[in-house]
Amino acid sequence: MSKTLFEKIIDREIPADIIFEDELSIVIKDISPQAPTHLLIIPKKVIPKLSDSTAEDQSILGHLMLVAGQIADQLGLDETFRLVVNNGAKAGQSVFHLHLHLLSGRPLNWPPG
Ligand code: AMP
Repeated sequence: MSKTLFEKIIDREIPADIIFEDELSIVIKDISPQAPTHLLIIPKKVIPKLSDSTAEDQSILGHLMLVAGQIADQLGLDETFRLVVNNGAKAGQSVFHLHLHLLSGRPLNWPPG
């Protein structure tokens, strides 16, 4: 199996702006930001998409949410941010290695497009 784009970033094979890393996850700046703050919170375990996750992934999924909250706090985002998971190509997913988008710094309309 070839590595996903995000595995290559985790393995330092391609560059990225890494702002946090721990044993389970990595957080990078999105290369094509859709808001003044646009981060990707990525598990080191390759789960292609959220709907592929199982009960075995419960702690990883919870961890990603906690990391998102901690990073938002550290960056001083005033408790104002949005987390997005695109699940499947028709929902806008382009990298098939699960990730949370963290968006902040501009008005975030509802419903999203
Ligand atoms: P999605 O479309 O939900 O799968 O999100 C994938 C995201 O990865 C997009 O927002 C891209 O802009 C972002 N992306 C693609 N390549 C890179 C890269 N080399 N470094 C950082 N972000 C990337």
